[in-house]
Amino acid sequence: MSGEDALFAGRELVCVNRGTDPIEASLLAGLLHSEGIPATVTGADLVGGYSGVPKVCDVRLLVPARYRAAAADVLERYRHERPADEEWTCPACGEVNAATFESCWNCGHECAPGA
Ligand SMILES: [Zn+2]
Repeated sequence: MSGEDALFAGRELVCVNRGTDPIEASLLAGLLHSEGIPATVTGADLVGGYSGVPKVCDVRLLVPARYRAAAADVLERYRHERPADEEWTCPACGEVNAATFESCWNCGHECAPGA
């Protein structure tokens, strides 16, 4: 942790992502690191101290201010790549359905993930 502290010492950090999931936050931090952006997660150490007890917590992903735009780009790309939020196309009739629809609004064909 001390190496990280030195890296971020004296720099203005900005929050680029807020959430309650420290696992996702560290995943995002790793993603930023892989793009050459120094990122740090705060609040994550407050979770998991008591294993098995879920705790709502303010987990923040921080980057130095000058990396803000680059970090936003990476996070944006990451969100677009997540299939969970994507629309899906009905294999039966070809209509495009919102991710929240479990069956095709047009023909009723079920969207059966994993089937
Ligand atoms: Zn359909």
